[in-house]
Amino acid sequence: MTMARAYPWQTGLWSSLCRLAESGRLPHALLLAAPAGMGKQMFARALAQWQLCQQKTAEGACGVCRSCQLLQAGSHPDLMWVSPDNEGEKTSKVIKIEQARAVVEFANQTAQMEGYRVVVLSPADALNTASANALLKTLEEPGQRSLFLLLTDKPAALLATIRSRCQLLPLTVPDEQVAKDWLAESITDELQRETVWRLSRGAPEAAQVLAQSAWFSARSGVLADLIAVAGRKRAPLQAAASWQSLNAEDQMSAWHSVLDDAVQSQMLPDYVSANQDLHSDIAQLAQAVSAKAMLEALFEVVEARRLLTTNVQAQTIAESLWLRWGTLTRPS
Ligand SMILES: [Zn+2]
Repeated sequence: MTMARAYPWQTGLWSSLCRLAESGRLPHALLLAAPAGMGKQMFARALAQWQLCQQKTAEGACGVCRSCQLLQAGSHPDLMWVSPDNEGEKTSKVIKIEQARAVVEFANQTAQMEGYRVVVLSPADALNTASANALLKTLEEPGQRSLFLLLTDKPAALLATIRSRCQLLPLTVPDEQVAKDWLAESITDELQRETVWRLSRGAPEAAQVLAQSAWFSARSGVLADLIAVAGRKRAPLQAAASWQSLNAEDQMSAWHSVLDDAVQSQMLPDYVSANQDLHSDIAQLAQAVSAKAMLEALFEVVEARRLLTTNVQAQTIAESLWLRWGTLTRPS
């Protein structure tokens, strides 16, 4: 684990928490709630490290003290980071009761480094009822010098009894300029920066991840094929075959994004395309295909994405969608 720093759009929250901590008024349980891609994990890491550091400054942990060395080695005895267990092949989505019991036991011990004990639950909405109930008493009376950080994209999915025991820290979407300045450090192309910022609805970390993703690069090709199939210049199965090597979920994400844009641009006169870099192709699609066909295709994409989470016949699902697109856009 390397030393973390709060992101630029988190500095307000960061300094208010530091001030509370310095005056001994930091609540013992904090619920960090924000949409995905706002950098909750980074913030939690930075705060956990800061709380455990023996020579902290206002900016963060020092990175050199004994405690920071243990943090960087990933072996600090007073930090417990709890996420759903991934055992071998099986990916769990739940923080299990055994994990919750281990948290209770950890919280009841005294700190080994004579400082704080910090528990991070990420995501806290992964607690099921049993594990949430097991934690209630500990969250209520966590003992001296302990800090619980609960992270979630879905605060409404938490049990009310858990929510009420935490101080809510909402992290809001940053100002456009703050987000874009930060993105400029990794994305030099302005149009690309604008596009990922729009597609991520202003969540900067999500925008940065998106710029690297397979579906983001696939959008322009998928859109060109949608136009070609609608214009009878390409057979649906030919298009399906050329996207065979792309993961079906990525393919559907690309479909979803461009169709969504095209439908909205047909319906809303002042609509600004989220796919800024494909603005003129989106307009071409909106010209070529009726809103009715486009909406119907969009519903089928949503359904296909749902099927993909349960069905292994990914290629068949993608093929039938291309065929359906051919039918929907057939000139009457
Ligand atoms: Zn330190």
